[in-house]
Amino acid sequence: MNELFGLTNLPYGVYSVDGSPARCATRLGDHVVDLATLLGDPDDAVFARPTLNAFMAQGRQRWDEVRAAITAALADGLPADGVHAIDDVTLHLPFEVADYVDFYASEHHASNLGRLFRPDNPDPLLPNWKHLPVSYTGRAGSVVVSGTDVVRPCGQRKAPDAEVPTFGPSTRLDIEAELGFVVGVGNEMGTPIAGADADQHLFGVVLFNDWSARDIQAWEYVPLGPHLGKSFASTISPWVVPLAALDAARVDTPTQEPAVLPYLALDRPWGLDIDLEVEWNGTVVSRPPYSSLYWSPAQMLAHLTVNGAPTRTGDLFASGTISGPAKDQVGSFIERGEGFLEDGDEVVLRATAPGADGTRIGFGECRGRITKARA
Ligand code: CA
Repeated sequence: MNELFGLTNLPYGVYSVDGSPARCATRLGDHVVDLATLLGDPDDAVFARPTLNAFMAQGRQRWDEVRAAITAALADGLPADGVHAIDDVTLHLPFEVADYVDFYASEHHASNLGRLFRPDNPDPLLPNWKHLPVSYTGRAGSVVVSGTDVVRPCGQRKAPDAEVPTFGPSTRLDIEAELGFVVGVGNEMGTPIAGADADQHLFGVVLFNDWSARDIQAWEYVPLGPHLGKSFASTISPWVVPLAALDAARVDTPTQEPAVLPYLALDRPWGLDIDLEVEWNGTVVSRPPYSSLYWSPAQMLAHLTVNGAPTRTGDLFASGTISGPAKDQVGSFIERGEGFLEDGDEVVLRATAPGADGTRIGFGECRGRITKARA
């Protein structure tokens, strides 16, 4: 059995088989288990659906009840009905993405990029970076599931020594290895979410590849931030690992100094001990450690809503590129300095984390292949 998908993981996804309607599932080993069938009603109004949103909207208490019921139902192994080998199914985008925000929570990545984008500035971090989790709002409609091809984007770019911009396919196409946090239950407009309450709102975690056209980004991002250099595609893994499966992976964030403002303060700002790997054309080129991230996901959610902005079921916020201190721990190719993506290149993100009872749990794959530009 695939030990990364044992009883301490039980992620959620959406599958179809032989063109039948897509339905919610969990995964045990290398098998996909139909949730409606497993829980006793094949026509269940929540699980016999092509997205997890209805379940996500039910909230923490129901998530805990369902996880307990699935655990009990699978304790003696796979059931007789509603089970498929993972190679026999198609895995779909697991939830309908509502709004999407991308953070920038890795101090190593922000410092590396600061040195590259602002080489004359003595401090690679901008003055706000340790006071708030920097972010921008991106395009939810171009979030795609693992295995979807990524068309090389075209756009404006201007080399520093060029007089005028040109238009064409990006020549500096990059990845960003990140985690994505999925909101199950949002907040009412005008009522922020306290960081201490994040567990009541966060449903789970996916792998996230924020494909980035560095040449388009470098020319467009001043003064309003990234846009077309990012919005053409972002890939997520097909499995949402429930936050409850990651209890054993909780660690303290690095020390936050200077002290944060009260709305960002937590008794113990928590991070997650998740080890990622980046595979480029079949070779693992980097192993970014999520535990090194400066900001907690709970602080990201608190910041995201502190102005009263509502979140809703299916909101997705990404951590920002995960980079550790070493060159073989960076989450983007621009930080490696050894070239960008060619047409036909394929990148796969994977990750594992400590699970309950000394186990290890997996996140599956976040895979994408570059196809040539269409303009
Ligand atoms: Ca990003």
